[in-house]
Amino acid sequence: MSGYQVRRSAIKAITGYTPQAKAFDFTSTSPTDIYGSNVFSDKVMKKMLPKDVYKSLMKTKKAGEKLDPAIAEPVAAAMKEWALSKGATHYTHVFYPLTGLTAEKHDGFLTPDGKGGAMAEFDGKLLIQGEPDASSFPSGGLRATFEARGYTAWDVTNPAYILENPNGTFLCIPTAFVSWKGHALDKKTPLLRANQAINKSARRMLALFGHDNGEMVVSNAGPEQEYFLVDRNFYFARPDLMVCGRTLFGAKPAKGQELDDHYFGAIPRRVLSFMLEVEHELYKLGVPVKTRHNEVAPGQFEIAPIFEQSNLATDHNQMVMTTLKSVAKRNGMACILHEKPFAGINGSGKHLNYSLSTPSQGSLYNPGETPHENMQFLVFTAATIRAVEKYGKLLRAVVASAGNDHRLGANEAPPAIISIYLGEQLADIFDQIKKGGLKSCKQKGCLEVGVDTLPPLPMDAGDRNRTSPFAFTGNRFEFRAVGSNQSIAGAQVSLNTMMAESLDYMADEIEKITKGDASKLNEACQKVIQDIMKKHGQIVFNGDGYSDEWQKEAAKRGLPNLKTAADALPVLTDSDVVEMFTKYSVFTKEELESRCEIYHEQYNQHIQTESELVVKIAKTTILPAAIRYQGELAKVCANMKTAGLEPTTGILEDVTAKLRSLQQAANELEKLMAQNGHDTVEEEARYRTDVILPAMLEVRKYADELEMVVADDLWALPSYQEMLFIK
Ligand code: ADP
Ligand code: MG
Repeated sequence: MSGYQVRRSAIKAITGYTPQAKAFDFTSTSPTDIYGSNVFSDKVMKKMLPKDVYKSLMKTKKAGEKLDPAIAEPVAAAMKEWALSKGATHYTHVFYPLTGLTAEKHDGFLTPDGKGGAMAEFDGKLLIQGEPDASSFPSGGLRATFEARGYTAWDVTNPAYILENPNGTFLCIPTAFVSWKGHALDKKTPLLRANQAINKSARRMLALFGHDNGEMVVSNAGPEQEYFLVDRNFYFARPDLMVCGRTLFGAKPAKGQELDDHYFGAIPRRVLSFMLEVEHELYKLGVPVKTRHNEVAPGQFEIAPIFEQSNLATDHNQMVMTTLKSVAKRNGMACILHEKPFAGINGSGKHLNYSLSTPSQGSLYNPGETPHENMQFLVFTAATIRAVEKYGKLLRAVVASAGNDHRLGANEAPPAIISIYLGEQLADIFDQIKKGGLKSCKQKGCLEVGVDTLPPLPMDAGDRNRTSPFAFTGNRFEFRAVGSNQSIAGAQVSLNTMMAESLDYMADEIEKITKGDASKLNEACQKVIQDIMKKHGQIVFNGDGYSDEWQKEAAKRGLPNLKTAADALPVLTDSDVVEMFTKYSVFTKEELESRCEIYHEQYNQHIQTESELVVKIAKTTILPAAIRYQGELAKVCANMKTAGLEPTTGILEDVTAKLRSLQQAANELEKLMAQNGHDTVEEEARYRTDVILPAMLEVRKYADELEMVVADDLWALPSYQEMLFIK
């Protein structure tokens, strides 16, 4: 089908569009009735479980106490009753393998009773442990193929929930996925371990400040999810989008994002009803989505929830991604989560808002009114500065992927150099401490907006610097390097462990000075922070992260600039990284090695698929279109000659030259792909980064040039213009 026909189908889909789902509002259904209605929540459990069982479960959930296996039986019974009443026919252990996706293994409740009848069955054993065949998930050598067993273990800290489907409804149980020897094979297990580590170390520090009330310290996450929407007709006509999640060809549209008229602009009707449906689904699942808006690029949008405890926020973000995709489908669109679906157009990230908190103190990153007096805040912030300087390369490594490489280090925010933005006020305070002595803080002041009817807005202590990969934003840090397609688990596992290590270091140093004398606490903290600023302060950068000067300045400061995944991934097995993770029992050395291997393999596989598709599309779609056009032009020239006219051969020559270059570039790419005998996954990644990717771009260059000259009705691939602007 030619691109021309696809365009007509897409336009028809848009003009003939009627909302799929019934709109909902809060007069017909109260927010309380919708929110969490499909969640086996604390409220439901309180109602359905025996008192002592509920109490015991809450102790595990809220205070991190060990799970009493005896409660599995009554919980399973209540869960089954609840799920059946909601219409569920199946249950599934949901887990998060290293593919970054969500995996499910479904089992029916129905069990034959052996007498010709059947009943619905589900017990404690089935709740606590599942046994999916692990052989089809990446394990990086942790699980020999002859021992394919992997176990899913019930994660009591996150609630079970019901997923509705037109073809049946099922109960979902969040689980951790481990090998038969207990090695983590997933994203959740290390996060649970890192949560334990940060709880312990942060509480040790809080105790020095007299906050010793037995409360857990938890880490929180508020992930802002960016995505693109494309009409499904276009999507199906673009094999590159379908298979790789990004376009491998496509000339720049006449109208890009230069006009900035999309950002926060009015949301198109079909997109709006898509968003409402997404929110409705997520409300039912108890995901607290809050904000929605257009993003910078045309066709790009964002959805952000209210932040939650990290483990829950991570599962919820996975649900957000799955829901975006499925609801888009229902509305005749495709949701693209790739970090850079369209070259030259803003890509998608996932800003991870991160904080540590306790129930009574709230965020430990809250500076209060006079930050220079709030020593505890300064200590936690200094620990962060030290952690990010010491392990910045790790933060870069955990967001490394083939997709994210097109953002980080390329022409887009944030740069691959990890630095911290503190804002003027905080930077000034830490500067004073560094120089010795801390007296004043720059007045927070008020921001005059110059409109009398508006109240004076309090100025954010950390105002916005969009170019920083790690920015203080008032009561939290915002890590902006996470890719839109990635799980947020990896970043949090690292942040929590880095923070635990840093806080322990500081507590040791502080205790060395105070020797138990609380009156010396302030003085000791100042001394320790001063040392940290001298040793690690170079990570603080408040300027423009896009600029060339920063690249040079950062090099002078000795900050790593790991531009590609091939540069960054090996960090996962650096000796200091291994030492830190093993010290806090978050990863064993073997687990890190396996992850390093798996992520390299994924990278290599990704580029392999992309390059194969580049050759295929070039040869079977683009070349034929160009050749047909060449034929038409040649015929015209011949006809002109017969008619006694001077033939206009200019276009014909142009098309012919480009066509030959395209053919050559595609042949060259194929040749390079065939020369791929590397001993290690690291070498292979290097080769794909340095040799294959540039060769793919070379093919693209001529293809995109042809797109600008070949007749539109012959061109089969929908254009950027169409995909981005026809909604
Ligand atoms: P912006 O786009 O201006 O950065 P958004 O409102 O889109 O802001 O997203 C901010 C995110 O930060 C939300 O998910 C919000 O709940 C989250 N957030 C706010 N306070 C905290 C905190 N203390 N810890 C973690 N996340 C937070
Ligand atoms: Mg936002």
